[in-house]
Amino acid sequence: MELQIQNLSKTYPNGVQALQDVSLTIRQGMFGLLGPNGAGKSSLMRTLATLQEPDSGTIQLGDINVLTQKDEVRKTLGYLPQEFGVYPKIDAETLLSHLAVLKGITNRSERKDVVKALLQKTNLYDARKKNLGGYSGGMKQRFGIAQALLANPKLIIVDEPTAGLDPAERNRFLNLLSEIGENTIVILSTHIVDDVKELCSDMAIINKGQVLYKGSPKKALGEIEGKIWEKRVPKSELEELRATQTVISEKLVGGMPVIHILADENPGLGFEPIEGDLEDVYFSYIFGKQAVDA
Ligand code: ADP
Repeated sequence: MELQIQNLSKTYPNGVQALQDVSLTIRQGMFGLLGPNGAGKSSLMRTLATLQEPDSGTIQLGDINVLTQKDEVRKTLGYLPQEFGVYPKIDAETLLSHLAVLKGITNRSERKDVVKALLQKTNLYDARKKNLGGYSGGMKQRFGIAQALLANPKLIIVDEPTAGLDPAERNRFLNLLSEIGENTIVILSTHIVDDVKELCSDMAIINKGQVLYKGSPKKALGEIEGKIWEKRVPKSELEELRATQTVISEKLVGGMPVIHILADENPGLGFEPIEGDLEDVYFSYIFGKQAVDA
């Protein structure tokens, strides 16, 4: 099963062009959709989840036309939105069971089994009697996945799921996602490069509504090979370098700026070549010449 997005465009009534001619083919496994805030990720996710209409373009999920067969899509979709609200005064088991009824699992003993299996899968079984209001951010997100899995979905969309999670919760959440990705299409929308680096076999970078890169993280790394240069610079030199070079990142290391620039040739000036990582790829597309060349 494949998800085929073709020439999708959307302009909001206020004139913001959130999606510009977006085309992507997404296969089974974990797909990373990487882009800064405002890039258009949620607009794309909401459109895939049948919650809003594009102005033009087509979306096909296997043999389902996503834009015209919304009910069919909803039967096979698990969606974890960016803001996932829970009822704070209900315990996880009760709410999940209630949501299971809404999903059409009306047989009581079947429902009991499904709810138990999902609570175990998301590691919430021991906390099943606890009110959701007392859950940590990570537990809420795992509950979000449990409800997304109720329909036994073929397509799972998770929008910025790791924002606000501490490192241990984030790892646990990402491990859960990658397990699910073994036999489902999972689209992970995020502005966090490490989420994609660790998990996704395929990815796209989007900014300002446009797809700037699509392919594997490995291929992306190949494209910047030999083009990333690093130097520790005194703060006084920063301004001029920003004006004359394609600076893609600036980080303080021990209080001193370390900058990465994107350049085909050795820029001299004491820059050393380094092996770029996925973050360099990302910033090259967002800030650098790659963005213009794409
Ligand atoms: P992301 O999820 O990558 O942060 P969004 O899809 O939320 O990006 O937003 C893309 C652009 O569209 C932003 O400029 C945002 O302000 C704008 N936008 C999003 N939703 C709406 C809306 N309902 N009405 C008008 N503008 C919107």
